[in-house]
Amino acid sequence: MTEPVLETIGLTRRFGAMVASDAVSLDLRPGEIHAIIGPNGAGKSTLINQICGALKPDSGAVRFAGQDVTRLDTVARARLGLARTFQISALVMEDTVLQNALLGALGARGRPWRFWCPALADAQLRDRAEAALDRVGLLALRGTRCSDLSHGQRRQLEVAVALTLAPRAFVMDEPMAGLGAEGSKSLTGFLDGLRDEAPILLVEHDMDAVFALADRISVLVYGQVIATGTVDEIRANPQVRDAYLGSGS
Ligand code: ADP
Ligand code: MG
Repeated sequence: MTEPVLETIGLTRRFGAMVASDAVSLDLRPGEIHAIIGPNGAGKSTLINQICGALKPDSGAVRFAGQDVTRLDTVARARLGLARTFQISALVMEDTVLQNALLGALGARGRPWRFWCPALADAQLRDRAEAALDRVGLLALRGTRCSDLSHGQRRQLEVAVALTLAPRAFVMDEPMAGLGAEGSKSLTGFLDGLRDEAPILLVEHDMDAVFALADRISVLVYGQVIATGTVDEIRANPQVRDAYLGSGS
């Protein structure tokens, strides 16, 4: 079997008496979208935070890109190519689409963010930023202010910023939140193509999106993975239906 890009091994995290992550072991393989679903408070964000380095596990490990990253912080993990998107918008609203993409490209080279003029003159950076914008379909809007973009376009721009870092995996916590039906549909189509760029670990409530996109689904309940499988396997799993999907699903 192909080596997973990202793997958690027995990740456990308590808040007081509550076990928010209870020995969670799962992996993300090349080319796939692996969705994590579960009721509110199941521990999805807690898991994502440990994967990205924002929260330390009490025990267990995270492996990424062939190494143990459990002790690395978020910045070090991002440098290895772990791209977290949609959590806190990192976009600068007054700046243009291209300037925002350049921020990402500059970050990749470890330079300070402020010096626009040299950055705009740096053909290599500009090429990288424009290639990322092209990849997400925003190149024609390169001169548009970020504040004039739709909600969905901003999410695409966030992905473009992440793409300038040559990500090896995407981690997304509820990207569809706040989008209307149209927005969700177009973001679903976009994420569908993005899996060719790098695999995606996707926490999402929108079950239409999850069922349309996921190669595998893991179901988290009270901090535990109660099932992992294909869409059909998860839909047919009686334990999952009881715990989460409801009898009507
Ligand atoms: P989900 O994202 O699945 O809705 P969370 O990971 O946010 O779930 O939360 C899992 C549980 O851990 C919840 O009961 C939540 O209240 C608790 N929790 C999350 N973060 C903290 C924290 N920083 N301090 C104390 N309890 C927390
Ligand atoms: Mg959450």
